[in-house]
Amino acid sequence: MAKESLAEQVKLAIGRVVRPDGDEFVALHEPRFDGREQEYVTECISTGWVSSVGAFVDRFEKELAEVCGVQRAVATSNGTSALHICLLLAGVEVGDEVIVPTLTFVATANAVCYAGAIPHLADSEETSLGLDAVKLAAHLAQIAEKRDGGCFNQETGRKISALVPMHTFGHPVDLDALMRVAREWSIPLVEDAAESLGSYYRGTHTGGFGLVNALSFNGNKIITTGGGGAILTNDEELADRAKHLTTTAKRPHRWKFEHDMIGYNYRMPNLNAALGVAQLEQLPEFLERKRRLASHYADVFAKIDGVKFVREPDGTRSNYWLCPLLLDRGLEPELEAVLEATNDVGLMTRPVWDPMHRLSMFSDCPSMDLSVAENLAERLISIPSGSSCGQPSSEIVDS
Ligand SMILES: *Cc1c(COP(=O)(O)O)cnc(C)c1O
Repeated sequence: MAKESLAEQVKLAIGRVVRPDGDEFVALHEPRFDGREQEYVTECISTGWVSSVGAFVDRFEKELAEVCGVQRAVATSNGTSALHICLLLAGVEVGDEVIVPTLTFVATANAVCYAGAIPHLADSEETSLGLDAVKLAAHLAQIAEKRDGGCFNQETGRKISALVPMHTFGHPVDLDALMRVAREWSIPLVEDAAESLGSYYRGTHTGGFGLVNALSFNGNKIITTGGGGAILTNDEELADRAKHLTTTAKRPHRWKFEHDMIGYNYRMPNLNAALGVAQLEQLPEFLERKRRLASHYADVFAKIDGVKFVREPDGTRSNYWLCPLLLDRGLEPELEAVLEATNDVGLMTRPVWDPMHRLSMFSDCPSMDLSVAENLAERLISIPSGSSCGQPSSEIVDS
């Protein structure tokens, strides 16, 4: 019996899960506004508090810190600006190196450059899709030395001043192992938790393990403020400095403009925070819906040879922000066919990002062997993952 091609099987399986009886376009990830968004945004407009100060900013920061189980959250204009400030607060200086996964969204590496530092690109592993701590430890043992209380790259002479793991598609990276490496080499840890709001590592919310950590609320993230981000920390003093740096470094005064350093205009407008408060109220429901979708996907893909649905790593709870499919090794040539077959019928799928070392501006960055990340990039496919996906329509109306 002639079997359907892999691309055909994947297309049918996704269709079965996300649109059992229709043929409407299904986006990769759509925002959902079923809560009090209109009410809160209208409140900003009718009170005139739309811009950089306002009650919703304070409320969003307080509620976000609670949800993430950290002492403090500082809202910012976007996730990239949050990362930039995190790096400055971790002590990254001009001419330093910062370890980032080569398999990440470009913003992680860009933020390193905003701080005047150089990305040092590291490989990933297949379970979490994030930084490989074992390989990183071996690499540092080869190239690094500890002196003056810090870690230095002997090959370039530069200080390695931060380690920035990223929780790929919401799957938490192996934080215990990475924290051990960071401690051993005296490198401050900063989590790029832009994709992992609602994800837990051994029972603790991601974004609370590093010294300072970044979230994003861009339009495609699990909750959105239109555009926005946040800095999370358990250190009150660092939080105060984050607030100061992101608000033009203005000292509190009733009428005077007193700025005591070069600050940034990275604050989140009240209008966006209003949207954020409403979205945060729905986070538990979004997470539940995404878990149900992920479990559907896991079921249908378990029956297809050649591809697997990447589940959350043991000991973690993923937010399943974007559901990842991984082709078996050897099936890399099928990637394009799968992307084409699905997108052709209005089921949006995407490959993962090009690894950073493949981009012209980062091609000369210091790095280690990056073969696993390179291979993952040839096999990973993101499939429709919005929290409205795969739910019977009656349920959407009722809830
Ligand atoms: C979305 C994202 C960012 C940046 O967030 P913006 O709000 O778009 O600036 C940073 N890192 C990762 C991994 C992301 O996915």
